[in-house]
Amino acid sequence: MKKEKYNLIIIGAGPAGSMAAKTAVESDLSVLMVESRLQIGVPVQCAEGVSKKQLDKLIDVKPQHISKKIKGFEIYSPDKTKVFVNGNGYVLERKIFDRWLAEKAIEAGAEIMIGAKATGLIKNEKDIAVKIKSSEKEYNLFADIVIGADGPASVVGKWAGINTDLNPSDIMICQQFIAAGIENLDCAECYMGNEIAPAGYAWVFPKSGNTANVGMGIPSERVKDGISVLECLEKFIKNRFPNCQIIEKTSGGVPVGLIKNIVADKVMLVGDAARIVNPISGGGIINGMKSGIAAAEIAKEAIAQGDTSVNKLSKYEKIIWEEFNKTNAKLLKVKQVVQKLTDEELNQLARSLKDIDFSEIYNMPTLIKQLVLKNPRMLFKLRG
Ligand SMILES: Cc1cc2nc3c(=O)[nH]c(=O)nc-3n(C[C@H](O)[C@H](O)[C@H](O)COP(=O)(O)OP(=O)(O)OC[C@H]3O[C@@H](n4cnc5c(N)ncnc54)[C@H](O)[C@@H]3O)c2cc1C
Repeated sequence: MKKEKYNLIIIGAGPAGSMAAKTAVESDLSVLMVESRLQIGVPVQCAEGVSKKQLDKLIDVKPQHISKKIKGFEIYSPDKTKVFVNGNGYVLERKIFDRWLAEKAIEAGAEIMIGAKATGLIKNEKDIAVKIKSSEKEYNLFADIVIGADGPASVVGKWAGINTDLNPSDIMICQQFIAAGIENLDCAECYMGNEIAPAGYAWVFPKSGNTANVGMGIPSERVKDGISVLECLEKFIKNRFPNCQIIEKTSGGVPVGLIKNIVADKVMLVGDAARIVNPISGGGIINGMKSGIAAAEIAKEAIAQGDTSVNKLSKYEKIIWEEFNKTNAKLLKVKQVVQKLTDEELNQLARSLKDIDFSEIYNMPTLIKQLVLKNPRMLFKLRG
């Protein structure tokens, strides 16, 4: 039988929720994670690529969580000009990784309910209750703070009065297959071009056993205009891996836009629910994990001081702005310009970038300096 009241109830046991739970119990908070799926991390709706350096800083990842180690990213323009971005990465096995993160939280002392869907919030002066529906039973459990870690289709924010809506151009509609029987690849690949993926891109993330996550994302406004991501992906795979066989199919949305507020009285949002995905890469695993840690730390402080108001929790909002959204706002502008470029402009951009050694590029000003030297007109265009 679960307790009637917890310090934190975390809705969603993805990477963001599990990291929030682990950090919070390690700070002596009582935590319940509520997960609607019957199996944590399944189905996988992700290409599973992360930076090795960044993940290693966050957690002691084990070999069984890594499907493949990669050496970098090959980005291809429509005329196949290649830009190589080096940097070691992991292609994770998220079916195992997400469950392991949840297990780490449980080992540290968190409780979990799976097959339990949060269906609403009830707020009062002192605490907040989460309405939960599980195996046809419905009940309310109380907390000091609720953390919404409920992913891209988050509803926790809406229940708390936070506007989590994004422009259709800032939601990528994705389809992904696992292709088997492909050649051995040691880099991820990204393909741009309006013929391949209008205003979006296709990706290949190699996995163990000569398999790969092969997917495509296109902004939802283009999908509404009648473009089929599935048809574009099938065409791309036929060209790139004519002899492969498809062994798994998945789909999902990536929220690449930003929202202004991610806290309300007694409520905090983390991960995709807080819309903190990198707008260019669509990567959200690392950001999600980091936001979970930050949210748990601020929640601990707020509960200790007996102040869980929106004012107090806005300290978390400021951390997220400094750590992710300040940069993401700039990246979003770059993305909005790049997705309007013609194929010829994409080719020109790739030609300008192809000889740049990205291992020497540590920041945006250095990249801009390089771009000015190579192609000042393209830089002007990118300024929008
Ligand atoms: C096709 C695709 C490819 C991607 N590729 C990459 C990539 O290569 N690298 C990368 O870093 N990121 C990638 N992403 C993004 C990445 O998957 C997300 O950013 C990441 O999973 C966010 O973690 P999260 O914990 O916030 O949310 P999620 O991992 O989505 O977890 C949310 C959890 O909440 C649960 N939940 C939802 N609603 C409720 C409810 N009402 N009650 C209880 N539980 C609920 C869900 O079942 C889920 O388990 C990709 C996304 C897609 C769609």
